[in-house]
Amino acid sequence: MPLIVHKYGGTSMGSPERIRNVAKRVAKWARSGRQMVVVPSAMSGETNRLLALAKELAPARPSQDFHREQDMLAATGEQASSALLAIALQAEGVPAVSYAGWQVPIRTDSSYTKARIESIDDQRVRADLDAGKVVIITGFQGMDDGGNITTLGRGGSDTSAVAVAAALKADECLIYTDVDGVYTTDPRVAPAARRLATVSFEEMLEMASLGSKVLQIRSVEFAGKYRVPVRVLSSFTPPDIDINEEAASGTLITFEEDEKMEQAVVSGIAFSRDEAKISVLGVPDTPGVAYRILGPVADANIEVDVIIQNLSKDGKTDFSFTVSRNDYARTLDLLKEKVVPALGAQEVVGDTKICKVSIVGIGMRSHVGVASTMFRTLSEEGINIQMISTSEIKTSVVIDEKYLELAVRSLHTVFGLDKPAE
Ligand code: ADP
Ligand code: ASP
Ligand code: MG
Repeated sequence: MPLIVHKYGGTSMGSPERIRNVAKRVAKWARSGRQMVVVPSAMSGETNRLLALAKELAPARPSQDFHREQDMLAATGEQASSALLAIALQAEGVPAVSYAGWQVPIRTDSSYTKARIESIDDQRVRADLDAGKVVIITGFQGMDDGGNITTLGRGGSDTSAVAVAAALKADECLIYTDVDGVYTTDPRVAPAARRLATVSFEEMLEMASLGSKVLQIRSVEFAGKYRVPVRVLSSFTPPDIDINEEAASGTLITFEEDEKMEQAVVSGIAFSRDEAKISVLGVPDTPGVAYRILGPVADANIEVDVIIQNLSKDGKTDFSFTVSRNDYARTLDLLKEKVVPALGAQEVVGDTKICKVSIVGIGMRSHVGVASTMFRTLSEEGINIQMISTSEIKTSVVIDEKYLELAVRSLHTVFGLDKPAE
């Protein structure tokens, strides 16, 4: 019997009515002769609500102990939605059982708030499936070796679903969300965005890593590593829609590059509002400076993204990089306390009103002048580029946050991505 994993996002699980619709959809799939595992997110707004409560009561300097409790708390959102879905399925006459991550168990490392899945025990789940039950597994969470509950980072239910699909060697993982697939860019920012019928794994990986939150980056990594067929589709179609039609809708992530994909030079525009820029000014321009600035940052488990070092003047230089906005205050403190005095740097300044806009496409490999078209377009719009970073299949720029929409829309048009006018 084919085994299918469904994942439903927060909006899709947002009310009792929507959960009932999810149950009807899953019931249809189960009755069509498939074994079903479902991974729900918390009801929309719930994770934010819980994290805001934690923040209200947090100590001035949050420690690991605080982050442990934060995960303990945030994980309850998915526990509630999973149980509600099991109840709704039972009401549909479909036997269903829900498990929290730790009950499966889904084992992770101990990095609270951004834990990585290490292994998933499939025994309990298989026994239930063989007994004819739909198995519901909470998204977003697992348990570390010490038995502590961990969470996988915002948007982490995508990763739970793909990891569960990989562990169970599922035939397909369907990610149901509030848009009907992966678009050339976020359709909420650029109304001219087009849905892609397929997207290559590499492009999806770049788009996700550059901020397209339709899939969490780690879910795409899992899909690639274990070759899990993943499809992104809408949870807002009528639940009784023809199952074959539904199974062919949305966007499929593909692992082979076909000719069609080669044609588009740029296949998508990604952006991120989640970053902040930090500059260490007046640093002596000597060997080892990058290491002495970024070493302590890495030791604090803070990820650094775009990096630039300016030309030196009188033996001094400025060194800038971006970090996630969540890590901004912590990074600034750390640099002020440890790095500036040790290096004899002048000062540290920061800017949170920035964003990163990226063009992505496999076709960029074989085309020159793509980046310069991007820079020209931005300059014609009067948008100043603060930082640039490139790889084989993407170019990213850091710009003032207020120009995000303008930049995304004008790049979308210039690279021929706008959908044809109706
Ligand atoms: P869920 O709660 O289902 O996980 P998310 O809000 O995490 O949903 O992700 C879906 C959202 O991702 C969409 O509503 C859309 O605004 C946004 N998004 C960003 N980039 C894209 C893209 N390239 N294609 C489709 N949606 C995108
Ligand atoms: N509920 C979690 C979040 O809001 C995980 C998810 O929805 O994927 O980030
Ligand atoms: Mg999501």
